[in-house]
Amino acid sequence: TAAASEELITPPVHIEYTKHLINGQFVDSASGKTFPTYDPRTAEVIAHVAEGDAEDIDRAVAAARKAFDEGPWPKMSAYERSRILLRFADLVEKHSDELAALETWNNGKPFEQAAHSELPMLVRLFRYYAGWADKIHGLTVPADGPYHVQTLHEPIGVAGQIIPWNFPLLMFTWKVGPALACGNTIVLKTAEQTPLTALYVAKLFQEAGLPPGVLNIVSGYGPTAGAALASHMDVDKVAFTGSTDTGKIILELAAKSNLKPATLELGGKSPFIICEDADIDRAVELAHFALFFNQGQCCCAGSRTFVHERVYDEFLEKAKARALKRIVGDPFKKGVEQGPQIDSEQFQKVLRYIKSGIESTATLECGGERFGSKGYFIQPTVFSNVQDDMLIAQDEIFGPVQSILKFKELDEVVRRANATRYGLAAGVFTRNIDTANTLTRALRAGTVWVNCFDVFDAAIPFGGYKMSGIGREKGIYSLHNYLQVKAVVTPLKNP
Ligand code: ADP
Repeated sequence: TAAASEELITPPVHIEYTKHLINGQFVDSASGKTFPTYDPRTAEVIAHVAEGDAEDIDRAVAAARKAFDEGPWPKMSAYERSRILLRFADLVEKHSDELAALETWNNGKPFEQAAHSELPMLVRLFRYYAGWADKIHGLTVPADGPYHVQTLHEPIGVAGQIIPWNFPLLMFTWKVGPALACGNTIVLKTAEQTPLTALYVAKLFQEAGLPPGVLNIVSGYGPTAGAALASHMDVDKVAFTGSTDTGKIILELAAKSNLKPATLELGGKSPFIICEDADIDRAVELAHFALFFNQGQCCCAGSRTFVHERVYDEFLEKAKARALKRIVGDPFKKGVEQGPQIDSEQFQKVLRYIKSGIESTATLECGGERFGSKGYFIQPTVFSNVQDDMLIAQDEIFGPVQSILKFKELDEVVRRANATRYGLAAGVFTRNIDTANTLTRALRAGTVWVNCFDVFDAAIPFGGYKMSGIGREKGIYSLHNYLQVKAVVTPLKNP
């Protein structure tokens, strides 16, 4: 693997916020308990954070309930809400380097990625949602009979939101942005691996003028704090991003409690299809990016690279060379493309999948082992000759492991690409418009990227078919998750 420069970009930051944010105050857990949060570069503890449980969720939900029922948030003018979101975006921009450093420290992602791509995206998304806040309205409906009929688009109420650790700030944004724009109040539970940046930005929200109780943040584990939130009788809606197995639990808890609607953004095993007429060099680079980006920890990772048999050998040689050139190292160093995996559990899981690949008839082209001797780094790994029924072609690995499969016919690759319980995303590489059109329509996935991958924009909806989820985030579609439609019918006196 290539070497990184020795230059450290940003020194680690001071950690100020480790308690829950409930009703505008940073508070300890009712139990007084804390849990450690780690630096995945070294596995060292960087802070002890308040550990929330059902009692803390109760307090947070009560605060959100009061802020919703008594206002001022849902009753404030939409323009004023929009201005608070805009002020918040400005504050994030001002503190962007500190936030990116904290994100890298707690998550392990390259600082340059956090600072130059994710933080600007966060700012952009909040400005996008600020733009929606005062443009949400219902319709006038031409019903039969002497009636004036209108629809009111109202906020749902208290939203419970549970987010994962792979993009702590962006997942916060995808959830909080639309909920606030529509006038809801929130209790958000961060992932136990990455509790720090959400608390920091929540503080910035207060500075921007968000009233107390509108956004409450509880840190803690899934089966305790997360389950308490999903099953709470006073929570009106739950939104979750994470694994498909946990998504099923969330849906069950939501149904068994008060039948709150749930939006779920879950796992994937996305195909990345390289046709015989593709621009191979570009396809190699994007297939590499599609899989290895963010240490392979993306729900939409292009984790099944299907290559047409006529270009297979050339693609394979170049894909392997690219993986060998990938710069792994301290994510605070300039030029580093890949940092550590998030934690010991994920690290062990990815190594187990690699082992299963090695023990199968697939060919290990490069990588296959831990990188270095401390922290959770894994060598960029490429398998060729992968078959559909292998574990590495079926399960979501969530790590830097590229699986390359060979195909011959378009029909065949459609069938194989769709033969998965997931349907989050797909990539298609071809210069033929007919091939592109055929594939985009045939693939059962929430996003199809043609000759590109991982293009995320505030306005583009994102979500899954099949067991990759329910509902869409971002774009106009995300607003539907946070609005109720009320029909108002009034008889007309003089029709
Ligand atoms: P991963 O395996 O990638 O960590 P999870 O789906 O387990 O993904 O976690 C995503 C989020 O779901 C985290 O915030 C986690 O704490 C939460 N979570 C995990 N288990 C549960 C559960 N039983 N109930 C509610 N939330 C949960």
